[in-house]
Amino acid sequence: MVPVHAPAPATSKTSRQLQQFNCKNCGAKHYARSCPALGRHCHICKAKHHYARMCPQKNS
Ligand SMILES: [Zn+2]
Ligand SMILES: [Zn+2]
Repeated sequence: MVPVHAPAPATSKTSRQLQQFNCKNCGAKHYARSCPALGRHCHICKAKHHYARMCPQKNS
């Protein structure tokens, strides 16, 4: 009888995958840091990094 100390099977809880998210700046779903609105100027509030249609200053 040989005690077997088998290593636990690889239980990868989370494989580090990039997660897409719904961006509040451009309104699209994309990976972080790949926002197409980055560097854009909003013509409503003159702030950067969001589209006018996603402008927080815009009254609906
Ligand atoms: Zn975006
Ligand atoms: Zn704006």
